[in-house]
Amino acid sequence: MTAPLPRVGIGTDVHPVEAGRPCWLAGLEWPGADGCAGHSDGDVAAHALTDAVLSAAGLGDIGGLLGTDDPRWAGARGAAVLVHVREVLAEAGWEVGNAAVQLIGNTPKVAPRRAEAEAALSAALGAPVSVTATTTDGLGLTGRGEGRAAVATALVVRATPPAPVDSAQ
Ligand code: MG
Repeated sequence: MTAPLPRVGIGTDVHPVEAGRPCWLAGLEWPGADGCAGHSDGDVAAHALTDAVLSAAGLGDIGGLLGTDDPRWAGARGAAVLVHVREVLAEAGWEVGNAAVQLIGNTPKVAPRRAEAEAALSAALGAPVSVTATTTDGLGLTGRGEGRAAVATALVVRATPPAPVDSAQ
């Protein structure tokens, strides 16, 4: 029997920057940076990862997972969303192999806290998450500082079934 192949998925997210709002990004709070507006905490990295994971498993997208205005997710942390999607995947017989997310925006500067962000997202998703960042050289909504974006990929595999119980012992 041919072993099932792993499956890849893709996700993107964009939120507007809102002056004075706390900045939650890649599972961390970033003091001194303006945050993103949104129904939840506006963490574009966590949301793009959530969509990538759901896409890989063929389980729809974050709008279907959380609803767009469900009060249970008002202000929800990105990490909590990742924990939830991991549980949804497990129920469907999938687990995440690894994931990667690229942040697109001028602020905050991610490099000094890259390891911290990777640790936070990996802990929430239960799999290694790589974090990178780029700017758009001043172009577009991210270049003008009007918003932040993120693009993510994920690989999922069929969960290992529990070992059968040997009734002869
Ligand atoms: Mg979002």
